[in-house]
Amino acid sequence: MPELPEVETVRRGLLPVLQGAVIESAEARRPDLRWPLPEGFAERLTGRRVEAVGRRAKYLLADLDGGEVLIVHLGMSGSIRIEGAQVKGRPAGFYHPRGEPGTHDHVVFHLAGGATVTFNDPRRFGAMLLVPYDQLDSHPLLSSLGPEPLGNTFHADYLAQACAGRRTNLKAALLDQKVVAGLGNIYVSEALHRAGLSPRRMASTLASVSGAPNVRTERLVIAIRDVLREAIQAGGSSLKDHRQVNGELGYFQHNFKVYDREGEPCPTLRCKGHVQRIVQAGRSTFFCATCQR
Ligand code: ZN
Repeated sequence: MPELPEVETVRRGLLPVLQGAVIESAEARRPDLRWPLPEGFAERLTGRRVEAVGRRAKYLLADLDGGEVLIVHLGMSGSIRIEGAQVKGRPAGFYHPRGEPGTHDHVVFHLAGGATVTFNDPRRFGAMLLVPYDQLDSHPLLSSLGPEPLGNTFHADYLAQACAGRRTNLKAALLDQKVVAGLGNIYVSEALHRAGLSPRRMASTLASVSGAPNVRTERLVIAIRDVLREAIQAGGSSLKDHRQVNGELGYFQHNFKVYDREGEPCPTLRCKGHVQRIVQAGRSTFFCATCQR
């Protein structure tokens, strides 16, 4: 499942092709993804110019000149393919072979100038919505989201207050999109490992009784930002490597320290522990019980 760094990589890959581009026509090859496509979807997109390509949590946001925003969510298996694009006279795009192209191409945007942007989603948990720009912040999908983990409002003071008195474990607290937006199973495991904090630790231990942060809170904020930044950087270099080829956006190779590494020696310097897998709230958590306390 794409997480925040993957979505940010998709955004950066789309940016040179989509920003300023006019959608000549849009093709919806089925009426629904996770939810029905908006009424008059293709018509409402036709002739629109894309003013900006942004992101909030795991949602891609394409601002259109008509005052609406196209919200795109990749769901579990969504990816985006760019074909026929020219940026500064050279082909642009990103190729990472994955699945069979064609069969699950559900939405295709034909851009003026000949490029196409195709949304492929075998499992159809993805979504596309059209929302008036001035109603974006109050939209149910976005209104209750916590701060962006890489933004200015996510810091130790904030995280301590969000966790103060919370009777859940750290894993659950960080997966709660109201606490911090866009973190998923993979990067929560990675960030907790980097911060040396157990996923089973009570979230309330990140704050004093008065809600002030402590050394653990500071460590965790830095770890979250670092793992995300490094992953985005890895995504960026995969974009660069494939700049010459038209292709698919959504996934890239990234080496995780603990995620999906059950039984392997812990990569922390001088730690003699091994990576364990436990199940929390029905989902796998990978961690080292020796250096994560
Ligand atoms: Zn360890």
